[in-house]
Amino acid sequence: MTDYKQYDVVIIGAGPAGMTAATYASRADLSVLMLDRGIYGGQMNNTAEVENYPGFDSILGPDLAEKMYASSTQFGAEYGFGMVEAITLDGEDKLIHTDMGDYKAKVVIIATGSEHIHLGKDGEEDYQGRGVSYCAVCDGAFFRNEDVVVVGGGDSAIEEGLYLTNLAKSVTVLHRRDKLRAQQIIQDRAFANDKMAFNWFTEVLAITGDGEKVTGLDVINNQTQEVSHIDASGVFIYVGLKPNTQGFENLNITDDEGWIITDDKMQTAIPGIFAIGDVRAKDLRQITTAVGEGGIAGQGAYTYISQLPSKSAAPTAQ
Ligand code: FAD
Ligand code: NAP
Repeated sequence: MTDYKQYDVVIIGAGPAGMTAATYASRADLSVLMLDRGIYGGQMNNTAEVENYPGFDSILGPDLAEKMYASSTQFGAEYGFGMVEAITLDGEDKLIHTDMGDYKAKVVIIATGSEHIHLGKDGEEDYQGRGVSYCAVCDGAFFRNEDVVVVGGGDSAIEEGLYLTNLAKSVTVLHRRDKLRAQQIIQDRAFANDKMAFNWFTEVLAITGDGEKVTGLDVINNQTQEVSHIDASGVFIYVGLKPNTQGFENLNITDDEGWIITDDKMQTAIPGIFAIGDVRAKDLRQITTAVGEGGIAGQGAYTYISQLPSKSAAPTAQ
C-alpha cells in the first residue's frame, strides 16, 4: 500500500509564486510543503539584475530568491526535493506523485512556471553546454572576450544580451523581424550599447561546430533569402517559453498550448487545485505578478480548506 505523507497544502514549484503561496498558507496555520525538482528560486536564479521588483532599486535574482525563501519558511512551511510526475484525485484529497515519494493534500497549488523553447535547428542539441546556452547568467563567464550571438527579440534576449556585453567581446542579436518585442527601456539601453549589434530579419538555419564546440551559425535573411555564416563561440537562445505542465494532462485544466486556466481566485476547474505564476494562461509573466498570485492562492487555500466539512477554521491571514 502506498504510504502518503499528508499536508493541508502541497505547492509544486518553489519560484516566486510558490514561495509566496507558502508564506500566506503557512501564516494561516496550514501545514505546507513546497516541492521543487531543483533549488528554490525558479527563474530568479537565472536572472542577473531585477530592477522592477518593488522595494529594491536593483537586486540580483539569486539574492531576491534567498530573501523570498527566508520569508516562505518563517511560519513553518517545509521545502523538499521532488519532481512531481502526476496529480490524481481521491475524493476531496489530492495525491501528488513524485520521483522521491507520494503525498496527500487537501489543496494543491501548481506553481511550476515555464521553460525555454528550443529552436529545433541542427547543432542545437549536439552543442548544448558546449557553446549553446539558454542562460547567460549561468554560462556567460565562459565567453569572456569572445564573440557571442543572442537569438530572439523579447525581454529575455535583449536583457541577457546586455548582461553578456559585460563579458563578451561582441554580442550580435539575431531577430526574425526588424522590431524588438522587449520593453522600451531595455531596447533603449541595447541600442545605446557599443558592444551590441543587430541582424534584422535573420533566422538560424544551423549551429555549426568543430565536433568539440560551437564555431558559428548558418543564417538566412528572410527578406532576401540570402544565406550567410556568422562566426561565434557562444549562442544564447531566448525564443520564448513553454509551460511546465507535462504530467498534468489528465486534469484537463489547460488551454491548447498547455497554460493552466484559472479564475481570478487562481482556482482551476478542479476544486482545491490552484495555479499561479508563469504556468498560468495570462499576459504578463513577471516576478510581481507571480508573487501577487501566490498571495491570492495561499489565502484561497485557507478559505477552501476551512469550508471543507472535515475542517474547522484556522485564523485568517493578515
Ligand atoms: P518559476 O520562477 O519558473 O519557478 C517554477 C519552479 O517550479 C522552478 O523552480 C522549477 O524547478 C519548478 N518545477 C517545474 N516543474 C516542476 C515539477 N514537475 N515538479 C517540481 N518542481 C517543478 N521578471 C521580472 O519581474 N523581472 C525581471 O528582471 C525578470 N527577468 C527575467 C530574466 C529571464 C532570463 C527570464 C527567463 C525571466 C525573467 N523574468 C523577470 C520573469 C520571471 O522570472 C518569472 O515571471 C517568474 O520567475 C515566474 O515565477 P514562477 O514562480 O511562476 O515560476
Ligand atoms: P517572448 O517575450 O515570448 O519573446 C520571444 C522572442 O523570440 C520574440 O522576439 C520572438 O519573435 C522570438 N522567437 C520566437 N520563436 C522564434 C523562432 N522559432 N525563431 C526565432 N525567433 C523566435 O519570450 P521571453 O523574452 O523569454 O520573455 C518571456 C516572459 O518573461 C515575458 O513575459 C517577458 O516579459 C518576461 N521577462 C521579463 C523581463 C523583465 O521584466 N525585465 C525579463 C525577461 C523576461 P517575435 O517578436 O517576432 O515574436
